[in-house]
Amino acid sequence: MKILCDRMLLGLGHWLRVAGYDTHWAEADWPDREVVALAVREDRILLTCDQEIHDHRAAAGRRVVLSSNALEDCAVELGRHADIEIDWLFAPLSRCLKCNVVLVEGGPEHFDELPSGLVGFVTRVEFCGGCRRVYWAGSHADHMLERLRELERLCARGRSERLRGS
Ligand SMILES: [Zn+2]
Repeated sequence: MKILCDRMLLGLGHWLRVAGYDTHWAEADWPDREVVALAVREDRILLTCDQEIHDHRAAAGRRVVLSSNALEDCAVELGRHADIEIDWLFAPLSRCLKCNVVLVEGGPEHFDELPSGLVGFVTRVEFCGGCRRVYWAGSHADHMLERLRELERLCARGRSERLRGS
């Protein structure tokens, strides 16, 4: 599943990328028509706060309109939507947060880019073939994982509300 977020859902888009989803977001100056066209062209689910996107026939069947852009609310609301199934622990931290590219395991040369205090402590690094950025597990990654677990809990709450029909 690939996702396109509108500009208002930048924060949600960022966290979907952290969760491992192939996620892009629209630029601020793109007209709705262009946003919808990109979603169609790249076969992406369009997540939007823009009720007017409803009027675009081309978006039918591939858009989910959310009522709030607050991340926690989005997670609950996505759980309530029957037509999109988000697993917040799908493939955590597997993509470059900057360019969306899937990370690959780095070689010895990538360890040279670690901050000096971490040399010898980190046993695995990953890197992005797009921007060459190097990633490693550390407290920042733990914090992101904790956040994803929280989003999954909120999403599960939405899901159970839907299944109970409330
Ligand atoms: Zn990158």
